[in-house]
Amino acid sequence: MKAKICLLPGDGIGPEIVAQAQLVLGAVAARFGHELEFESHLMGGCAIDDCGDPLPEATLNACRESDAVLLGAVGGPKWDDPRANTRPEAGLLRIRKELGLFANLRPVKPHASLVGASPLRPEIVSGVDILFVRELTGGIYFGDKGRRKSAGVEAAFDEMAYSVPEIERVVRVAGKAAMERDKRLTSIDKANVLEVSRLWREVAANVVSNEFPELQYDVVLVDAMAMHLISRPADFDVVVTGNMFGDILTDEASMLPGSLGLLPSASLGDPGPGLYEPIHGSAPDIAGKGIANPLATILAAAMLLRHELQLEEEAAAIESAVSNIIDSGLRTADIAGKGAALSTAEMGAKVVEAVSG
Ligand code: NAD
Repeated sequence: MKAKICLLPGDGIGPEIVAQAQLVLGAVAARFGHELEFESHLMGGCAIDDCGDPLPEATLNACRESDAVLLGAVGGPKWDDPRANTRPEAGLLRIRKELGLFANLRPVKPHASLVGASPLRPEIVSGVDILFVRELTGGIYFGDKGRRKSAGVEAAFDEMAYSVPEIERVVRVAGKAAMERDKRLTSIDKANVLEVSRLWREVAANVVSNEFPELQYDVVLVDAMAMHLISRPADFDVVVTGNMFGDILTDEASMLPGSLGLLPSASLGDPGPGLYEPIHGSAPDIAGKGIANPLATILAAAMLLRHELQLEEEAAAIESAVSNIIDSGLRTADIAGKGAALSTAEMGAKVVEAVSG
């Protein structure tokens, strides 16, 4: 297979971790006989410095012409001035919209040998294997918003709206994913209060019963889910929800494994390339020191192979290499505790060695 991958290293530790993921993808391609072509482009703060735009036209065009996009992270104190014309994060919102990336997939699966790093007790965290599917381009974050005065009192409003097709397509992504996992799907809403959630519940149930009748399906209110994620997270398989509920719940869930440096994410559109990235930010506090954990980005590269190029065996090869490396006790500084730590490049080299067979 031949594929073109657009790399957007971004800011802070982004270039360091994307470089390692690129080496791992190269090693997998060599082992399995694929031809991957890489092209690197500016996005985020570095692009603002270069041309004043966090998502330059050339970068967007390169993304559109590629089969998949691998992003490091964007942002940092240099571009934090609230009076600035634009910010690195504006590039992130725009690329999601421009590429139509409506479904964000975030797997949360703490490694058995790292459950001690979780803020929760090991017996609660062990066995957790959740895939969140969050709607990413609709809902309250993209509705009408504004300020108004009524009888001299200032107020603000944000409209939350979802159309039937917007709900159908994201539930379909979640349903397909659940069919390839443990065949259990949970939809999260606030149907006891919100009209949008009542429509979400109706449409989700129709999609599941018409297209995925084999799934074990249930619905949970978002406030209850916030509690279940802390008290019994191992009970869930695939979880689908809207933009704002997903934003909050996935951040809550990202604490379960105890380290941000291990969690990847994928944002999928249809048709066109998906965007794959670690869930953490640009970690300006450690940028340039060569100590960042590259594993979340390497696992994002595995998701890219699975979801974009349908290379399941190759994706699994990366995931099992990472698991074995962690099980063998090798750590970067963020998860090493008082033990010895590998550098970013040393950790990347371990994965390259393991996937090279
Ligand atoms: P962060 O995720 O960058 O860092 C939080 C803490 O985790 C820091 O102590 C950092 O050193 C550590 N950390 C994060 N990733 C790590 C890794 N791979 N290895 C080792 N340690 C790691 O969050 P923040 O400090 O709140 O944000 C920093 C910048 O990143 C901000 O400008 C923010 O806007 C941006 N950001 C970007 C994205 C993105 O590009 N998708 C996401 C979140 C934050």
